[in-house]
Amino acid sequence: MITENLEVKTKNYIAGEWQELQGEGVSVYNPSNTSEKVGDMYFSTEEQAFEAVAAAREALPTWKKKSGSEKSAVLYKMAEVLEKSAEKVASLASREMGKPIGEMRGEVMRAVNLLRFYAAEGIRPDGQLIPSSEQNVVQYSRRVPLGVVAIITPWNFPVAIPIWKIAPALICGNTVVWKPAEQGVLTATLLMEVFEEANLPKGVLNLVIGKGRVVGNVLLEKAEIDAVSFTGSTATGQRVAAACAQRNIKYQTEMGGKNAAIVLKDADLEKSVPVILGGAFRSAGQKCTATSRMIVEKAIYPEFVAAIQKALNEVVVSEASENPYLGPVASKSQYETVSEYVELARKEANVIGEGPLKTDKQGYFIQPMVVDGITAEHRLFQEEIFGPVAAVVQVEDFEEAIDVCNDSLYGLSAAIFTNDMNKAMRFLDEVDAGMVRVNQETSGVEYQAPFGGMKWSSSYTREQGQAALDFYSQVKTCAIKYQL
Ligand code: NAD
Repeated sequence: MITENLEVKTKNYIAGEWQELQGEGVSVYNPSNTSEKVGDMYFSTEEQAFEAVAAAREALPTWKKKSGSEKSAVLYKMAEVLEKSAEKVASLASREMGKPIGEMRGEVMRAVNLLRFYAAEGIRPDGQLIPSSEQNVVQYSRRVPLGVVAIITPWNFPVAIPIWKIAPALICGNTVVWKPAEQGVLTATLLMEVFEEANLPKGVLNLVIGKGRVVGNVLLEKAEIDAVSFTGSTATGQRVAAACAQRNIKYQTEMGGKNAAIVLKDADLEKSVPVILGGAFRSAGQKCTATSRMIVEKAIYPEFVAAIQKALNEVVVSEASENPYLGPVASKSQYETVSEYVELARKEANVIGEGPLKTDKQGYFIQPMVVDGITAEHRLFQEEIFGPVAAVVQVEDFEEAIDVCNDSLYGLSAAIFTNDMNKAMRFLDEVDAGMVRVNQETSGVEYQAPFGGMKWSSSYTREQGQAALDFYSQVKTCAIKYQL
C-alpha cells in the first residue's frame, strides 16, 4: 500500500514485513519551507539491524539459486511499479531534501532505467570460456554472488544511488540490507512501499532505518555480512574501509570530490559558462560531481568574469516546488556548514557575483556564489564545500591548468572547455580523475557507463554500467576433465 497523504513515518521492512519503530521521533520539515512538516523519523535499535541481516541471510540460498531470468523478472517488476509511482516518490523526495521537482523526476526515471538495465543483465553472459592447456578439459570462469550485502547511502540522490547499488546487487544473486541516510529516510520508506508491490521474495531486500553510528556500526562491525557498498563523505568512507579490511570482506567506498572545470583561452565563453554554472549549482551544488573549482587561462580572464556575472543572473534560487534553477540546501546542518564557507569567502576572497534569491519562504536558501582572489592552496579551493559556492583561480597556460587541477586530494570528476582537440586529448590523458569530460559539465554521468573516482574519491571500484557487476560478484574458475 502506498502512503496517500505523503506525510510519512519511517518504518523498517524486514523479511517482507513492516516493522514499526519505537522511541523518540524527530519531525522532518521541508527545507524549502521549514514550517511544512513532511513526516516523522524514528530509528532502529541495534537488535533490529541484526534482524535485518538475519532475514537477508535466510533468504540467500533460495535467491542465489534463481536463474538469471527469474531475477530479471523481479527487477523488471520493480521498474514497472516505480515508474507508476514516480510522481509520488519525486514529490516526497523533493519535499524531504529540497531538490527541485524537475530534477527529482529525472532522478526517479534514472532509477527506473537502472532497474531495467540490470534486469537485462540477468540473461547476459556471466563468465568466459577459457582454453585449457590440457586435452579433454573444459575450463570456464563465472561470476557468483558475494552473499549478504550491506548498502549504506547518502541523502543527495535519495533514489538513484540506492537503486544503482540495489539493482546490480540483486541481479548478481546477493541479498541486501539497505541503510539510507538520515536525511533521506522518508523517501526510503516510500520507495520500499512501492517495491512491496513487486512481490520480492521475503528477505531479499530489507530496509533498516537508523543512525550511522548505531545501525551503520552494527553492519560494519558486528553483523554477519559479506560485503559493503558505501557512498558518502570521505571521513565516513575511511571508517568503512578500515572496518571491512579488518574483517576481510569486500567493500566499495564512493566518497567526496572537489571537481574542476578548466577554461582555455579559445573556449566559446558564451556557450561554455552557462554549462559550467549548471555543473556547479544545480542541486544547490550538492552533487559529488559538482564543479567547485574553476581554472581559467589569464588571457581571457576579464571576459570570463563578465560572462560569469551575466550568466549568474539566470541562476535563480527559490522553493524546490517551483522548479527553479536551484532550491535550498538539504538540511539545517548543511545550511550551517555551507554558511561557514560563505562567511570565509566573504572574509578572505573576492565575490565575483551571486545568483538572485527569489522567494519569501523560510528555508535553507543559499545564494550561489562565485569567488576569486585566493590561491590554489586556499581552503575554498581544496575542501569539499558541498554547496553552491565555486572558486576561480587564474593560470598562465594549459600546463599550469593541469597541475592545479591535479593538486587535490580528490579525483572524482573534471572538465575542460576548449576547441583545441590536441589539448582536450592531453587533458583526458593527464588529469587524475575517474570521470573526465570535454565541453561538458563535471556532473551528468550516464547510468550505462562506469562511475567512480580516483585518489580519495573512491576505493578504486566502479559503480553503474556493467562495471558494477564486478563489485557485486566474485569469480569462480571451473575445470572439467571429461575424459581421463
Ligand atoms: P555521510 O558520510 O555523512 O553519510 C553517508 C552514510 O553513511 C549515511 O547513511 C550515514 O548514516 C552513514 N554513516 C555515518 N556514520 C557512519 C558510521 N560510523 N558507520 C556506518 N555508517 C555511517 O555522507 P552524507 O552527508 O550523507 O553525503 C554527502 C557526501 O557524500 C559528500 O561528501 C559527497 O561528495 C558524497 N557523495 C559521493 C558520491 C560518489 O559517488 N562519489 C555520490 C554522492 C555523494
